[in-house]
Amino acid sequence: MSIKVENITKTYGDQKALNNVSFHIRKGEIVGFLGPNGAGKSTMMKILTTYIKSFEGNAWVNEFSVTEEKLNVQQSIGYLPEHNPLYLDMYVKEYLSFNAEIYKVDKNQVEKITELTGLTPEANKKIEELSKGYRQRVGLANALLHNPDVLILDEPTTGLDPNQLIEIRELIKSVAKEGGKTVLLSTHIMQEVEAICDRVIIINKGAIVHDKNIKDTLEDKNLETLFAELTNPQK
Ligand code: ADP
Ligand code: MG
Repeated sequence: MSIKVENITKTYGDQKALNNVSFHIRKGEIVGFLGPNGAGKSTMMKILTTYIKSFEGNAWVNEFSVTEEKLNVQQSIGYLPEHNPLYLDMYVKEYLSFNAEIYKVDKNQVEKITELTGLTPEANKKIEELSKGYRQRVGLANALLHNPDVLILDEPTTGLDPNQLIEIRELIKSVAKEGGKTVLLSTHIMQEVEAICDRVIIINKGAIVHDKNIKDTLEDKNLETLFAELTNPQK
């Protein structure tokens, strides 16, 4: 298993952001993690990437425990956080080289990833000069630098215009398929899952409410009702 989540509960005050969540993701699967705002998607991802340290239950990435083997987990994962924090006044090439040094990745790899993510023509621009779509490419390039097996992408297309959205989806798909990566990608858009993923996990109010492959998901007669509840929650 690439990702194994067992009985994770995360509480903020008296609110359960995650309530006994379990799922397994096999190597090479591209999984859409779908759910409305506040469902618990980012919290789950921060646990998997070892940013959140206190919770109940456990999770493993490439068989490394997120509580016991943090460094191994971090080496296994490429993470694009929700608001893609970038140093806007750095040049693309400079930013990626700077991170490559931190990861102890060699310069050839920086060039390879720059090319792979379509950033070669932009490499000498400042990040602040780039469109949102290209900034996402920089975030993705950064996540790929150390050649991780697993990609955790938190709403990678939120805020992009329709063309950029399609380009980033295609890029994620090709990078994942060609590199044999395992991907967990959060979104609140079903079409996005259809465009990229082979499996759909839906989370609502901290609990998993659906976990099926894409074909069974699209044929699922309950999905419409489920979506109506998610987008129009009634107490
Ligand atoms: P999503 O990414 O699906 O929108 P989050 O994981 O960000 O959801 O949030 C899940 C729930 O946990 C939300 O109700 C949110 O307000 C709460 N939450 C997230 N982070 C914190 C925090 N640092 N302190 C308190 N509550 C938080
Ligand atoms: Mg989020």
